[in-house]
Amino acid sequence: MSPRTIQVSPFDLVVFGGTGDLAARKLLPALFQRDRAGQLPEQARIIGVSRKALGDGGYLRFVRQALEAHVKPAELEGAALERFLARVHFCAVDVTGDGGWSELATLLSEDVAQVRTFYFAVSPDLFAPISQRIGRFGLVTPESRVVLEKPLGKDGEGARVVNEAVGRVFGEHQIFRIDHYLGKETVQNLMALRFANRLFEPLWNSTHIDHIQITVAEDLGVGERGGYYDTSGALRDMVQNHILQLLCLTAMEPPDAFEADAVRDEKLKILKALRRIDDHTAEAATVRGQYRKGSVGGQPTQGYLEDLAAEESETETFVAIRAEIANWRWAGVPFYLRTGKRLAARTSEIVVNFRPISHSIFDHTAGRISQNRLIIRLQPDEGMTLEVMIKDPGPGGMRLRRIPLDMSFVETFGVSNPDAYERLLMDVIRGNQTLFMRHDEVAAAWNWIDPILSAWKHTAQRIHPYPAGAWGPSASIALIERDGRTWLEDTE
Ligand code: NAP
Repeated sequence: MSPRTIQVSPFDLVVFGGTGDLAARKLLPALFQRDRAGQLPEQARIIGVSRKALGDGGYLRFVRQALEAHVKPAELEGAALERFLARVHFCAVDVTGDGGWSELATLLSEDVAQVRTFYFAVSPDLFAPISQRIGRFGLVTPESRVVLEKPLGKDGEGARVVNEAVGRVFGEHQIFRIDHYLGKETVQNLMALRFANRLFEPLWNSTHIDHIQITVAEDLGVGERGGYYDTSGALRDMVQNHILQLLCLTAMEPPDAFEADAVRDEKLKILKALRRIDDHTAEAATVRGQYRKGSVGGQPTQGYLEDLAAEESETETFVAIRAEIANWRWAGVPFYLRTGKRLAARTSEIVVNFRPISHSIFDHTAGRISQNRLIIRLQPDEGMTLEVMIKDPGPGGMRLRRIPLDMSFVETFGVSNPDAYERLLMDVIRGNQTLFMRHDEVAAAWNWIDPILSAWKHTAQRIHPYPAGAWGPSASIALIERDGRTWLEDTE
């Protein structure tokens, strides 16, 4: 069954950073795919903005190349491509000055009633100057929205400054702080699984769940982004946003409705209930790592310092954390979080490990009874696996084994899921903020991250090297094994 496509309202989408990597790899292909699916109305326009004096013609060439590079050739049929290109415009503006803004204002004035979206796909240092000029040039209409890309600050104070600058021009109901993980099919399915089934919610607490693991592993290194990455590190780049969002959706109480503020209120409570990790507890609760040369997928790869062309760096490319949520539902249930670059595989998953059964009626000949596990996979193959114990088929007596009840969304539904940006961009146009972060969520996430960052600094916490292609340093294995548990791949 093909999904229903409902057209969104007519819109102008202004992409600041329209010639950047994010625009080329994600935003333009996502918009093209939605256009191909018939979701963009005839009047929809996409306006790229950057400093280069490209003109409409030069920008059209950029867009065409971006689509050729990032959309499957079979999907780039002539008519769809030409229709999409006809929507594209360009405006040369250096957002740190006043030049070019009047031209942008004129272009936008062609239809002031339609939805107007400003997408900030530029460095966060530019968020304040852009917002200020959008305000000064009178570009905000009642139907305006602004999309802020991560990172939102480098710490709580940085995020506060950005939120304040943008908040002077846009109302909170107009601000869409994007975390593309929330646009993934599986993430939304996590909510369906929890709140549209009788089965799981009664078990979703410390009485029945032993612990939860959240892994976001990349096999790639820092590549061209080394300069940026070295000022950030895994904790800021992945944990502060993606991993904490996954943790919130896994752990939150049922919201009273699937609506933006109801969902965000519940996520906020989880962020506030995270037990603080500080100078006294960071060494025991966190592990920092940095990749060295090794081999990923059979290919030799160099280490982080060589990727960076630097002699030394204090930046972690891996982090593992034992987190705790101090509330009634989760008391005593550890959440083990980890993320890193140049790990053994590219995989993101949430693993819910249930407690052992309270009493076994089977004798030792039946074999070991493994704990039930629910694995929610975000990538590479979005889906879910519920591991249950069954009797090994055959006449050989009662022998038990754990089997996976496996569901791959692609295999089950026969369609590949749209990229997260496709869904999120359409949500922005529709004005639906459910899958976007509110300012207080961002602040609460930093409130938990900041003390870890400062503990690492004060205590000069060691960075453990790990060979590229491993699952991080051995200290990460020790972190979980101290509690008598193992990471998922170590139990296979
Ligand atoms: P990028 O490739 O360096 O692109 C930056 C864009 O900003 C270019 O279009 C550049 O065009 C424009 N720009 C820079 N200074 C400007 C100015 N003063 N006035 C107007 N335009 C200006 O960066 P990116 O990788 O696309 O990343 C953009 C933002 O998204 C960053 O905050 C990044 O952290 C975030 N992000 C990126 C990704 C990704 O996959 N790339 C993923 C998540 C988040 P000109 O040089 O022509 O002005």
